[in-house]
Amino acid sequence: MTTTVDAATGEPVGSWPVDGPEQVAAVVEQARAATQSWRELGFTGRKRALQRWAARLVLRADELCALIHAENGKPLDDAYLEVVTAVEHLNWAAEHAHKVLKPKRVWPGLMMANHEAVIEQRPHGVVGVIGPWNYPVYTPNGSIAYALAAGNTVVFKPSELTTGIGHWYVEAFAAANPALPPGILSAVSGPGDTGRALVESGVDMIAFTGSTATGKRIMAAAAQRLTPVVLECGGKDAAIVADDADLAAAADAIVWSAMANSGQTCVGTERCYVVASVLDDFLTELTRRVRELTPGSDPAASYGPMTLPTQVDVVAEHVDDALANGATALFGGADSIRAPFVAPIVLLDAPEDSVAVREETFGPTLTVRAVRDVGEAIRLANASQYGLASSVYSRKHGMAIARELRAGATSVNSPAAYAAIPALPFGGVGESGIGRIHGAAGLLGFTRPHSIARQRFAIPGMALQSFARTESTMSLVRKITARRFGRAK
Ligand code: NAD
Repeated sequence: MTTTVDAATGEPVGSWPVDGPEQVAAVVEQARAATQSWRELGFTGRKRALQRWAARLVLRADELCALIHAENGKPLDDAYLEVVTAVEHLNWAAEHAHKVLKPKRVWPGLMMANHEAVIEQRPHGVVGVIGPWNYPVYTPNGSIAYALAAGNTVVFKPSELTTGIGHWYVEAFAAANPALPPGILSAVSGPGDTGRALVESGVDMIAFTGSTATGKRIMAAAAQRLTPVVLECGGKDAAIVADDADLAAAADAIVWSAMANSGQTCVGTERCYVVASVLDDFLTELTRRVRELTPGSDPAASYGPMTLPTQVDVVAEHVDDALANGATALFGGADSIRAPFVAPIVLLDAPEDSVAVREETFGPTLTVRAVRDVGEAIRLANASQYGLASSVYSRKHGMAIARELRAGATSVNSPAAYAAIPALPFGGVGESGIGRIHGAAGLLGFTRPHSIARQRFAIPGMALQSFARTESTMSLVRKITARRFGRAK
């Protein structure tokens, strides 16, 4: 059995049988059997089914949020915002799938002018989705909603820490659509081995959200069958505060980005580079806000416990290492860590080659460094193996700074707006991942283009792809080609 616990108290929440390779294969087979009926529903039928599901998620959000609060630990309002953002994506995918994925006729080119050329986007088939525990609804939903809207069926393996949430979410689809056959969206339960069984089960695509280390293992396993993957992995996101920033607003956004969800946010700010001339004022604003935060699981808590108990040790290691190597604690320190809760920690001048600056800490911590100018901030922000997202605070130069950042997404004068805008693709560069979810790119990623060229009529004597081709045809082709392309200066 796999058992989940309340992240704050350690009390059991629920237990499920662990699915091994045989059970996973049976669920994938049922998902394959359901692909035909799901495709036959067409874009309109699928849209209705997805919107009925969205309605159920909204109408029963209190139940789902209570489960998120227990298994993940975040406050109920944060849980509700997670559900709302997931529903925004679900609705966008449902509404836009037809427009983005409908067949497109393209110009066949002069040589093939007697053909009709069409691109039809086909769903991959069965998509295996493997999810993390930090945003247990929002993150897998970013794959599941788009995969389903594109006409795939889905087998979802939630994190073993948030199995109950995963099952609730999946069961809500069936409950909202009792007339549909089983297998359009199903869940399998268990630890990493169950995820591995899903990758090796012969599914037609894998959409993974989780750590970079697991992402690499999944990509290697998927390579055995050349199964396509989209990998949404870790990050070490930087915020840049320019000298023309609204410092109060920047501090507000950065504190939320770094500390909300106990800092367990893939696109949470972990590093902050501030132009030296505004450092003192910025730190005053930052400290004022950090001081007001209290972790806990009561209704007044600013954020919850650390969900993954072993992550507390990683936070402690990063903080200790930074302090031993010259960083100073602007706020909090080793004493702030009282598992399962970690009070905010802000470190000044942690060395750029320390683990606290280079590796994902995934706790309510922030490193802050003064920089000479925005150019230095950009250089340091980009000097990371990760490249998930970033944020920029500047009244006048936000867009120009954003364009210089090596990341999949950037928000200007707000913490993580791109994640809540369904039309924007989401995903990282470097060790933060490969491929995109969300937006039109997300829908397209859950399909493969099928190119169809139909000969509308034959042109006598002009058959090029034939042994019956004549010399005069070739001579004509040579002349036309020289005219069309041979005159560039
Ligand atoms: P994790 O990698 O430990 O686990 C993620 C999922 O993979 C779990 O369901 C786990 O059971 C499964 N898994 C583990 N080993 C596997 C294997 N060999 N084969 C198949 N599946 C396997 O990650 P986590 O601790 O659950 O989540 C935290 C991480 O997720 C952080 O690094 C965070 O940055 C990242 N994350 C990224 C995004 C994003 O969109 N880029 C979003 C949320 C979280």
